[in-house]
Parts: sequence; structure tokens; C-alpha cells
Amino acid sequence: MSDSLDQSFKTLKQTIPLLLKHKIPAIPTNYALWYAYVENQNNELHEEIERALADGRPFSDIYTQELYRKHIADKEELSAWQLRQSVEAMLTEFSQTVLDTQNNTEGFKASMDTCLDDLNKVEKEGWSMDEVMKLVRTMVKETQLIRNSTLDFATALKTAEKEVSQLKRELEKSQKDAFYDALTGLYNRRYLDSEIQAIDVSQSPCLIMIDVDYFKAINDKYGHQMGDRVLKAIAKRLQEKCKANAIPFRFGGEEFAVLMRDTSLAEAIHQAEVIRRALEKVTVYDRRTNRSIDGVTASFGVAKLDHGMRRSDLLETADRRLYEAKRLGRNRVMPMQG
Ligand code: GH3
Ligand code: MG
Ligand code: MG
Repeated sequence: MSDSLDQSFKTLKQTIPLLLKHKIPAIPTNYALWYAYVENQNNELHEEIERALADGRPFSDIYTQELYRKHIADKEELSAWQLRQSVEAMLTEFSQTVLDTQNNTEGFKASMDTCLDDLNKVEKEGWSMDEVMKLVRTMVKETQLIRNSTLDFATALKTAEKEVSQLKRELEKSQKDAFYDALTGLYNRRYLDSEIQAIDVSQSPCLIMIDVDYFKAINDKYGHQMGDRVLKAIAKRLQEKCKANAIPFRFGGEEFAVLMRDTSLAEAIHQAEVIRRALEKVTVYDRRTNRSIDGVTASFGVAKLDHGMRRSDLLETADRRLYEAKRLGRNRVMPMQG
């Protein structure tokens, strides 16, 4: 016994993947040949195999036999005992791997148990080299099977993982689409409706409705794209001016809304005034035409949800007051006082 058990185990572990990789039948001569190649103690054999691999020469039966005769047959053969040790160690390790993967293991485990039983007989009954090799062959076959099945399993798992995260992304996106306005990034009208449905008079809610003045003229004069940029700039101002108890929404088109909680009508009117003045300072510059839009104005209607009011009254009242603001000349908040 020249090799330590550890070393022969290592050699065996490298030999089997090589047989699989080069599609070499796991017959005893092949096994011995590739074991010796991995062991790398036979220079001539090693060099010849390296050359054949580099040239892409197929390891046909005839060529393999020739290699075996030339480099192995005359030399000292592997001892059965050495093989038995390494095969057993390897089987034990594989059984652990299989337990770890927990995938389709029953059949593999059963044939490994048989292999181990047979291995025990090797010493007791003094098996020949050929008999040990038969075991190795079985093991290589089983290894390949389990390797394929674990590969399949890993691929399936990866695909499933990919699908799940794709679904998750789509779900997140559709949830986002459902509640957000794509142009401005503000919450949309659908979300406002659901918030209003969920609101209670005890939360002292107020609603500010906002409609940009003469927006059509902005589109007509500067183009729809500039109009979009103005809407975005307005949304940005709204976000800046809304504190924790106020949520801005894009209601649709050039209309916006702010839903407030824990607030009096007077405070909501004040909030609307703050926004109105901030919008007057909005500027959007058009590099293409070297023109800029300086200041937009909007009209505001403010309402508070009081006892005895339906939730839908909140929006109707705010809207009615908004049109009053328009009628009175725009760029103003109605009512003037809370
Ligand atoms: P008023 O002061 O009476 O509110 O006048 P207005 O021009 O703002 O009102 P009108 O309802 O006549 O026009 C609103 C315009 O807003 C018409 C429409 O083309 C424009 N608009 C609506 N949605 C968008 C949008 O997403 N982007 C752009 N650029 N324009 C939009
Ligand atoms: Mg409008
Ligand atoms: Mg308008």
C-alpha cells in the first residue's frame, strides 16, 4: 500500500468525473487507466493522455485498450484493498451529499447499500480485482444518475426561483401601477378614492382640490411635452409643501388633490395658500427653444368632512368651491376663510 487512504480517496474522486466528462465506459481497464492518470505517477501515460486530450482524440475502446496494455498491464496493478477503501469512503461521502440534496434519493440509497454490502464481502471472501471493478462500475453509473438528477433539481429550483422573483416584480409593478400616477409619481385618483372611503370624521379630514389655470394655453404655446414637465414640476412642489398630515394626489389631467388629516378648515385653507404661492414660483426652462415658463397659477377648493356629511360630499363640496374660485377670476383659494 503506497498511497494513504486519504490520497486514494482523492484520486478516486477526481477519476470518476473524468470518466463522465470524456464519456468513457467505466470498465475496469478504463478505471485503472484514468486512476493512474490522475495519480500522476506514470509519466509516460500522463503525457500521452494529456496529448490525446489536447488533440481532442476520442478515447475509443481500441485506443483505451492500447493505452492500458502499454502503460498499465505490465506494471503493478492497483491493489483491491486500496480500491475497497477509497470506494467505501467515497460512497459514504456521496450518501451524505444525497441526504443533503434530499432529492429522489431512495433508489440511489438502496443501490449504495448494496455496494457497501458487497464491499464488505471483498475482504471476507477475498474478491478479485475484477469483482471490485464491477462495484466501481455500478457506483459510477449511480453517481452519474444522481448527478444528473441533482443537476435537474438545481436547474428546476433556479428556474422556479427566477419565475417567483419575476412574478414578485410584476406584482409589485402592478400594485404600483394601480396606485401611482406614471407621469408625476404621485398617488393617483384610485388611491384617493380608497383613502376617502377609509376615512372617518373622527380623523378631522380636509380635502383640497386643485385645478391648474389655463393649462390648455400652456400646451398650445409650449407644446405637450413642456406641459408634461410643468405637471411634474407642480407635483414636486406639492410634495415639498405637504407635511406629514397631508398627502398629495394627481386627480387626473391638470387636476391635483391634497388629503389632510387632523386639521381644521382654516388650517387646510392655509395649506392651500402655501401651495398656491409655491406654484407661482414654478419655472420650467425649454433648452430647445430657449424659452421658459415662469410661474403657473391654479384655483383651489377646500372642504372639511363634518358630522352628518357623507364621504362623497367631501369631494363634491371641494369641487364646487374650486369652480367658484375659477368663476371669481382663478389663482385663488375658496372659501377665503374657515
Ligand atoms: P381652466 O383655467 O378653466 O382650468 O383652463 P384649462 O385650460 O386649464 O382647462 P381645460 O379643461 O380646458 O384644459 C385642460 C388641459 O389640460 C387640456 C388637456 O390637453 C391638458 N392636459 C390634460 N392632461 C394632460 C397631460 O397629462 N399632459 C399635458 N401636457 N396636458 C394635459
Ligand atoms: Mg381641469
Ligand atoms: Mg385647468
